[in-house]
Amino acid sequence: MSSIRFTAIKNIAKNAISYEVKSSEKVTSIFNENVFTLKTARHYLSDDAYKSLLASTSGGKKIDRAMGNNIANGMKAWAEEKGVSHFTHWFQPLTGLSAEKHDSFFTLKGDGTAIQEFDGGALIQQEPDASSFPSGGLRATFEARGYTAWDPSSPAFVMETGQGKTLCIPTIFVSYTGESLDTKTPLIKAVVALDKAAVDVCQYFDKNVSKVNATLGWEQEYFLVDAGLATARPDLLLTGRTVFGHAPAKGQQLEDHYFGAIPERVYAFMKDFETESYRLGIPLRTRHNEVAPAQFECAPIYEELNLAVDHNTLLMDVMTRVAKRHNLMVLLHEKPFAGINGSGKHNNWSMSTDTGVNLLAPGKTPKTNLMFLTFFVNTIKAVHDYAELLRAAIASAGNDHRLGANEAPPAIISIFIGKYLTEVLQQIEKRVSGNFDETDEAILKLDIHKSIPELMLDNTDRNRTSPFAFTGNKFEFRAVGSSANCAVPMTVLNTIMAETLTNFKKDVDALIEKGDKKEVAIMQIIQKYIVESKKVLFEGDGYSEEWEKEAAKRGLPNVKTTPESLDAYASDKAKKLFEDHHIYNHLELEARHEIMLEAYIKKVQIEARVMGELATTQIIPAALKYQNSLIENIRGLKEAGLSADTYHAQKEILEKINEHINVISTNVKSMIEARKKANDIAHSREKAIAYCDEVKGKYFDIIRYRTDKLEVLIDDSLWPLPKYRELLFLR
Ligand code: ADP
Ligand code: MG
Repeated sequence: MSSIRFTAIKNIAKNAISYEVKSSEKVTSIFNENVFTLKTARHYLSDDAYKSLLASTSGGKKIDRAMGNNIANGMKAWAEEKGVSHFTHWFQPLTGLSAEKHDSFFTLKGDGTAIQEFDGGALIQQEPDASSFPSGGLRATFEARGYTAWDPSSPAFVMETGQGKTLCIPTIFVSYTGESLDTKTPLIKAVVALDKAAVDVCQYFDKNVSKVNATLGWEQEYFLVDAGLATARPDLLLTGRTVFGHAPAKGQQLEDHYFGAIPERVYAFMKDFETESYRLGIPLRTRHNEVAPAQFECAPIYEELNLAVDHNTLLMDVMTRVAKRHNLMVLLHEKPFAGINGSGKHNNWSMSTDTGVNLLAPGKTPKTNLMFLTFFVNTIKAVHDYAELLRAAIASAGNDHRLGANEAPPAIISIFIGKYLTEVLQQIEKRVSGNFDETDEAILKLDIHKSIPELMLDNTDRNRTSPFAFTGNKFEFRAVGSSANCAVPMTVLNTIMAETLTNFKKDVDALIEKGDKKEVAIMQIIQKYIVESKKVLFEGDGYSEEWEKEAAKRGLPNVKTTPESLDAYASDKAKKLFEDHHIYNHLELEARHEIMLEAYIKKVQIEARVMGELATTQIIPAALKYQNSLIENIRGLKEAGLSADTYHAQKEILEKINEHINVISTNVKSMIEARKKANDIAHSREKAIAYCDEVKGKYFDIIRYRTDKLEVLIDDSLWPLPKYRELLFLR
């Protein structure tokens, strides 16, 4: 009897009731409880310190040393009242996760007196050891040292881990010479670039606009499985996905899970992590079952981009931690189960002005509609011009299993805008160039504002097959993977938008200089951009084969694997783009490219190792055991004098098992050879491609196929790994 699996199954009932939901607290009474919000700051800071913090959060003003000390003292006083003893600079290195290094407030004075201290220096800057985080060669070029610097635009918070409480200071992480070593620094720079470019364009429509904020509302999908069962699966533990597992008799074919009732144990977990999230100021709004069994989703109310990114990173951490209390494990991997829907993280994105206008919401008047059209068409143009870069920004070993797998958006970047807006763009396009004098009458009378709600009712808009869809007042980037750090795709999206808007302004100004009326000039450039980028628009079924063919005809890129898609980061076009907008210098960009390749190589390498080891040490031995019992059985029947045709079924199974074992064993051996060969390749790109094509491409499927065949052939009581039906349906 394979004990780990069956012990885990036996323990499920016990695990399920081991956690009681606390009586629910009103969200409004706990929201932001653990956040040093401006309101809290007002309470704990002197007038001057508060003003300084305010100027820095809203206007990016530097905080001087003395004020830093004041603010740090106020934060410490607040935190101590909550029983906090330690502080940490909380940052997001290029592992894609969050990192922290805790220091105590406790320190000794020169004479040995023990005191609690937190000064401005400790608040503003720290020096964690940079050498153990990925740096993509920046470390070799520069000094190993790196430092974290306070980002006042994201508020400090108190993280509760068991009995421990820590004051967390959101920071950026940069090398000693200033190169960014995290995902936040470039994001903040991209937000600044977009702000500038968008404000410039807004001036055509409204002189009062002085700031444009990018907004993000993410939707987080995840799987939830019993921790005991998950622990009995080394592949889940080490890679986040199952490398083996036969499809269960019941999968998602009944479609009975989506939006169905949330199981009690899951509900207890949700309540618990939501409560923690509210305390941390994460404005969660929705929760529901997803399409696959054991798959769920949560989403907050959208926020300013930088904060939304921090909140998603924080949420993934909170969920993972809280799940343990419930003897559950959260799977954030894009494809934990073959043959079952994967998980994504839709990034709902828009821009809003400090005058309170959502730039992607159709307006009520011709003027505001022209503003809407401007930003709408510029987004289309940006996505069209930089589709490869957007594709690269969502590339990962995990997401490769999902994109284009007939359930998630394909690797082809296209945009869905709906029937009505398609018509609007077609009408604008049809105008003979320069014939825009009657724009106010003819074009802008298009009643975009009134027609959008109608459009939203049209069910074609629920086109979930598009990787980038306009959904009424925002674009939804759906191809982002569930485990991704939103900062990566959002840095690209905001940068390409900044670039496109900057060019738009130049193009329009050139026409105005030639004597065109402003509105006419704007319409002409909008028309030009529609013509140049319309091939990225697609309203049909993104999962279909016809689309793949059609996209190829249109010349749209369709890069299927991570190593190749990452080339976009190394292109001259990308270098120029990022340097022009001060997001990455070429060294930083090359470092990112290198880090992403390395991450890919390591992930596939670990998967290959787990696969080989499991096959050799668990699967084949189980198969041999069953074979032996069959042999014993046949021998017994023979000895009893029965003829061969009475045990032909046993013989058949024996032969099948033999064949599977042989194929598995041969392929595991060859896979190890392929890995060795790949490991000898010095150049990261070629090495990643070797891992993709020669290791994963040649061996993963065949080894898995044969293993899954064995799973449904041999005695269930001998099978060592928890099966899909157990992982997906037992809770
Ligand atoms: P869905 O139908 O995809 O579930 P929702 O209407 O529930 O769409 O919205 C999904 C997410 O989009 C939510 O997080 C929501 O706050 C966010 N969202 C709505 N408006 C905006 C906006 N202007 N900018 C960014 N995100 C937004
Ligand atoms: Mg959505």
